Amino acid sequence: MTNRQTHPQQNAGTKSQETDLAIDAQNVNVTYEDGTEAVRGVSLRIKKGDFFGFLGPNGAGKTTTIKSLVTLLHPTNGSVRINGYDTVAEPDKVRRSIGYMAQETSIDRELTPRENLRLACELYGVPGDQRKDRIKALLDLVDLQDVADTRAGTFSGGMKKRLDAASVLVHRPPVVFLDEPTTGLDPEARLRLWDYFERINEQGTTVFLTTQYLEEADRLCDRLSLLQDGQIIATGSPDTLKSEFGTDVFEIALKNPLEDRIKRAVQAVRRIDALEEPTIRTTEDGFTIRSTGVRETAGDLFAALEDTGVSVSDFDIHSPTLDDVFLALTDGSSDTAGRADTGMASISTQEVST
Ligand code: ADP
Repeated sequence: MTNRQTHPQQNAGTKSQETDLAIDAQNVNVTYEDGTEAVRGVSLRIKKGDFFGFLGPNGAGKTTTIKSLVTLLHPTNGSVRINGYDTVAEPDKVRRSIGYMAQETSIDRELTPRENLRLACELYGVPGDQRKDRIKALLDLVDLQDVADTRAGTFSGGMKKRLDAASVLVHRPPVVFLDEPTTGLDPEARLRLWDYFERINEQGTTVFLTTQYLEEADRLCDRLSLLQDGQIIATGSPDTLKSEFGTDVFEIALKNPLEDRIKRAVQAVRRIDALEEPTIRTTEDGFTIRSTGVRETAGDLFAALEDTGVSVSDFDIHSPTLDDVFLALTDGSSDTAGRADTGMASISTQEVST
């Protein structure tokens, strides 16, 4: 994303340590009282203005990490600086310099959007003479101006999330933390939130987003970390990760896909020398091959299948997705065992095109 500017107004007071890092976490460990090691040695260096994604399946440790970044819990080991402030030594300064949107919306359902934002302005100490303009700008930003005076309890899930997002921004924090903001929303509501998050990032706000939707991270983030079992397993831009860890994917559907026919077809594919270390997984109606150079071997592949006497009913070759990256990093060795489950939630093509 281009044209980022430093946010014009930051209520953060005097910086204790000048830095171009919005988030600087060093070797963070969080162990809960029952002994669960939820976060194990997470380090993050996120530049001001970045749109950063923290991606992982349920239980990976995303919420625990975000809580340690926003001062809701102290790391068992390690240190965190947000906007130059230490989260343990200077928690109030950290809190004043961030917006945090938790998984559960924090808006008051009995109040209207305008009243909710007024309340947020009071809580964050926004000067009285600036409140009216700021509330209007935020209502415009999240497209709630038409319902600004309607009780929020009547709103859809997406509208509540948009209001929640607006209310964590009233004090113009330079960094905003969003914990799975689109989980459970319908596709249209999700797309509108994406649009909104992109807008606030373009205005200069650093965004730290946790998500279990690979497509969401791919679409929005400049950089992301993949988290599994409390540890970061890869970090980079979506494109870098895909080119580094992903390979092209060849999906093949067979006519009459009985188990023994699929098995025979897979054995034939394995005998093709030109395929470099293919990872082959069976599917309901055929199999997928992940391998470098799989596009170039398409001719050999169809010939081998024909020799085996199995007919192809459909096929597709596509570039790697983040899903493929995650599979390669977490489960690259298991093949023919069926489509491995990354635990990551998927947004279907039909959904995102709505
Ligand atoms: P995610 O946000 O990626 O779904 P969490 O941070 O919520 O992951 O959870 C990480 C791990 O920590 C999980 O194994 C979860 O069961 C455990 N956990 C979360 N909160 C607590 C808690 N308060 N006490 C003990 N274990 C917890």
